[in-house]
Amino acid sequence: MPCRVPWRAVSTDEREQVVRDGEASTPMVAQWRRLKEAHPDALLFFRMGDFYELFFDDAVNAAPALEVALTRRGKDRGEEVPMCGVPVHAVETYLHRAIRKGFKVAVCEQMEDPAEARRRGGKALVERDVVRLVTPGTLTEDALLDPLQHNWLAAVAIERERAALARVDLSTGRFETEALDRDGLAGALARLAPAELLAPVERLQEPQLTRQLREVSDRITPIAQVRFDPGVGARILKARFGLADLAPLGELERAELGAAGALVDYLELTQKSGGFRLDRPVRIDDGALLQIDPATRRSLELLRGPDGDRAGSLLAAIDRTTSAIGARLLARRIAEPAARHELIRPRADRVAVLVEDDRLCHALRALLTGMPDPERPLARLAAGRGGPRDLRALGDAADRAGRAGALLGNGPDCLATLLPDLLGLEELADRLLTTLAEPAPLRVEDGGLLRPGVDAEYDRLVSMRDAGRSHLDGFEQRLRQETGIGNLKVRHNGMLGWYVEVPAAQEGRVPASFIRRQGLAGAVRFTTAELQALERALGEAADGAQARACEIYQVLCQDVLAQAARLRSAAAALAELDVAAGLAELARSGGWVRPELVDEPVFAIEAGRHPVVEAALRANGEPFVANDCDLAPDQRLWLLTGPNMAGKSTFLRQNALIVVLAQAGAFVPARSARIGLVDRLFSRVGAADDLARGRSTFMVEMLETSTILARATERSLVVLDEIGRGTSTWDGLSIAWAVVEHLHDKVRCRGLFATHYHELTHLAASLPRLALHRVKVQEWQGSIVFLHEIGKGVAESSYGIHVAALAGLPKPVLNRARQVLAKLERNEAKGTAARLARDLPLLALLEEPAEAPEPPADPVRVLLESVDPDSLAPKEALDLLYQLKQAAGS
Ligand code: ATP
Repeated sequence: MPCRVPWRAVSTDEREQVVRDGEASTPMVAQWRRLKEAHPDALLFFRMGDFYELFFDDAVNAAPALEVALTRRGKDRGEEVPMCGVPVHAVETYLHRAIRKGFKVAVCEQMEDPAEARRRGGKALVERDVVRLVTPGTLTEDALLDPLQHNWLAAVAIERERAALARVDLSTGRFETEALDRDGLAGALARLAPAELLAPVERLQEPQLTRQLREVSDRITPIAQVRFDPGVGARILKARFGLADLAPLGELERAELGAAGALVDYLELTQKSGGFRLDRPVRIDDGALLQIDPATRRSLELLRGPDGDRAGSLLAAIDRTTSAIGARLLARRIAEPAARHELIRPRADRVAVLVEDDRLCHALRALLTGMPDPERPLARLAAGRGGPRDLRALGDAADRAGRAGALLGNGPDCLATLLPDLLGLEELADRLLTTLAEPAPLRVEDGGLLRPGVDAEYDRLVSMRDAGRSHLDGFEQRLRQETGIGNLKVRHNGMLGWYVEVPAAQEGRVPASFIRRQGLAGAVRFTTAELQALERALGEAADGAQARACEIYQVLCQDVLAQAARLRSAAAALAELDVAAGLAELARSGGWVRPELVDEPVFAIEAGRHPVVEAALRANGEPFVANDCDLAPDQRLWLLTGPNMAGKSTFLRQNALIVVLAQAGAFVPARSARIGLVDRLFSRVGAADDLARGRSTFMVEMLETSTILARATERSLVVLDEIGRGTSTWDGLSIAWAVVEHLHDKVRCRGLFATHYHELTHLAASLPRLALHRVKVQEWQGSIVFLHEIGKGVAESSYGIHVAALAGLPKPVLNRARQVLAKLERNEAKGTAARLARDLPLLALLEEPAEAPEPPADPVRVLLESVDPDSLAPKEALDLLYQLKQAAGS
C-alpha cells in the first residue's frame, strides 16, 4: 500500500508556461490537449501544485456549475485562454458539484516531484496523467456518497429473450449479477435504482428499452456492443478473479457474462492506476425475491415519498437503525423483500428475539450508535484511496463487533449464527485503536498519526521537529535583539523555505552575514547560515517523522487488508443486528406483531394500520382507525366502495405495505397477520400524468393495468384503485368491469379493487369469490363524517358533492351539481344503469360462455337499450357508434 504523498509543489517556471502570448501552444497546453483528447466527455481537473485547474471550454462550462470564478490567462494560438481552478484540499466539494450537475471528471495528477522535472532542465514539464475518471457510479468518497444508500453502477445486457443486470457498489466492493427474462428487467432496474447505468449503444436505439432505462436512471452511459460480448466477459472475469474456470462463480448465463464483463471493463477504464476492490460476483436469484414492478414501487412509496425524497416513504417511517450500514441494509430489504421462507424466517426470528429481550436490544442499539461505516473505508483502503481516518473507523467497527459478540453470548441460534463473523478481530481492533490518534488525521502527511508512546523513533523525531520550531521562535527573538530591528520576522513559504524578513527601510541595519534572497516593495528577505542549518535539521526531523509515520501506516494498512474478508463479514453481521434491533424497537414501540407466513393463499389481517399515514396522524395527535382485511380463498377479491377521502387508498396501500414488511422479515402494524407468501405484488393507487414521456393519465393507467393482468399469478396480491376513471363513464365502467372479471376468473389472485362505479357491485351476483366492502361514513346535518372504517356491503352513495362542499366549491356550482345529479338519478330510476349493470356480464358471456350461461341477447339491442341519448357527450356518441358496429359484427 503506497503512502501517497502528492507532489504539491509546482515550479514558477511551469506556472508561467501554462499559456503565454504567441501563436503556437506551449508544451504545457500541448500536454493538456493530449490528456483532454483522451477524455473528451469529461472535465479535466489538471493538477498544478495546490490547485486543479480547468482550461478552455472545460473552464467555461464548469465554472458556473462549480460556482468558481472564470478568469482568462495569456493567449493560445492568438486566443485568450479561459481558466478556472479549485483548491486540492477542497476537491471533494467540487467533485460533488460537478457530478450532481451531470459532468464526469478526469482527475489528472502530477506523476513526479517537480524538483525532478527541474533537474531534467529548467523548463522541463512535470509529468502528468489521468489517474481516475469520476462518474456517478464510481464514487468512493464519503463526501460524495449518501451514507444511507448503496451507490450502484449497473450494466444491462440482452441476449435474445434473456437479459442480465450486473452491478457493483464500488464504495463497498459488492458485485452482483442477475439473469432474468426481458420482461422482468424493468422491475429489477427499479429495485436497484442505479446511480449510473451502462447500456450497449446499439440497444439504445430501441425506444421501449430506452424508456425502461430512463425510468430508473438519468445517468445512462452508452458503451459499444462489443464490450458486452459474453466471450470477452468470461475472459475479463477469469483475469480479474484469477480463475482458470468460471465454475466457482456459478453457472453464469451469456447475458450475465456480457454485463459483468462490460462492468469490470468500465471500472478498469475509469479507475486507471487507482485500482479497486471487487468481491466475487454473487448471483441474485430473482425467484427468491418478491417481484415489484416500477409502477408499484412508485405507488407504494417504498424508499421515496411523494416528493421523490426519503421523507414520507415507508423506509423513513420504519427506519430505527443507528448506523449507516444498518440503514443501507434496511433500505435493501424494503426494496427487495424475499419470497422464500428460508430467507425470511431467520430475519424475523432475530427481530422476535430482540422484541422479547429488550435489554439486549437496547444494549445492541447503544453499542452501534455512532459507529463509523466500515464498508466504505475498507473499499477505499483497498483502492489505495484511503487514509488514517479509514483505519481508525475499521478499528472502531472491529472493536464493536467483538463487543456485540460478547453481548450475544449464548443467545438463541438465530443470533448465535452471527458469532463467528463477529469474533476474532479483537487483536486487530486493539492494535488500530491503541496505535492511531483520535481523531486520526485525514492524510498521513497532515501529521499527528500516532498516539504518543506508540513508537519511540517517531516520538523522538517529532520532539526534535517541535524543538526545532520552538528554536526558530527563540531565533527570531535573538535576531531582533542583535539587530535592533523590532519588527524583524522569521517566516516560511513554499518558494523560499524559512527566511528573515525586515522592512526595506531597515535594510541598512542588517549584518553582513545575512544573505539577501528577495526584495519586495516594502520588505527584504534574507537567510543566514544558522537559519539554513536550523531549517535542515527541522526538515530532516519533520521528514523523518513523516517517513516513520508512513511506514507504520503502511503496516497497519497491510494488517487490515489481510483481514479484509473477516472485516466485511463482521460489518455484514453488525448491519444484520442493527436492522433487527431497529425493527424490534419499532415493533415494540408501535405494538406491531410478527406475521405468520404460510404457503396457502390466505391473507388475514386483523386491525391493520398504514405505517406512514398513522405516523403522520399521530404527529398531529389524531388517531388512526385500524381495519381488518381477509382475502380468504372464498372471498379473495374485495370490491371496495366509498366516497373520496374516506380512506380507500390508505386501506389498499396499507395491505400492500404489510406484505412488503412481512416478506422483508419485519413485524407488521396489525393485531395479527396470517399471510400466504406473495410472489408478485402489484399496486396501482393514485393516477399521474406522464406527460414528459408523452403519455396521458389514462394511457399510463392502461399500460400499468395491462402489465398487471399479464404478469399477476395466483400467488400474487393485486391492489387497484379506480381503474377506468380517466375516460368516458361507459368506457371506464366497461374496462373496470372486465378487469374485475379477469382477475376473478383468470388470474385468480388475491386482490383489493376500489371503485366509484357502484354498478360494479352487481358483479357479486355472478362472481362467487368477489366480496363487497365499503368505507363507512356518517351523514350529519347535510354533511358527512369520515369514519375510516371498512365494513361489509356497498356504500350508499358516492357523496362526491358532499366532499366537493367540504373542499369549498362555490355554492352556485354545488347547487347546480345537485340539480344535475337529481336528473341523472331520475334517469337511473327509469332503469338505464340497472339494465346496463345486468347486461354487461351478458356481453362478456357472449364471447366466453361460463359456468351458468343465460339465454343470449342481441348485443346491438342490449347496447341501444342501455343508452340515454340525452346524456351522451359527442365523444361518447362516437364511441357508441363503434361499439354498435363491433357488436353487430360479432
Ligand atoms: P380518494 O378517493 O379521494 O383518493 P380515498 O378514499 O382514497 O380518497 P385516502 O386518500 O385513503 O382516501 O384518505 C384520505 C385521508 O383520510 C388520509 O390522508 C388520512 O388523513 C385519512 N385516513 C385514511 N384512512 C384513515 C384511517 N384508517 N384512520 C384515520 N384516518 C384515515
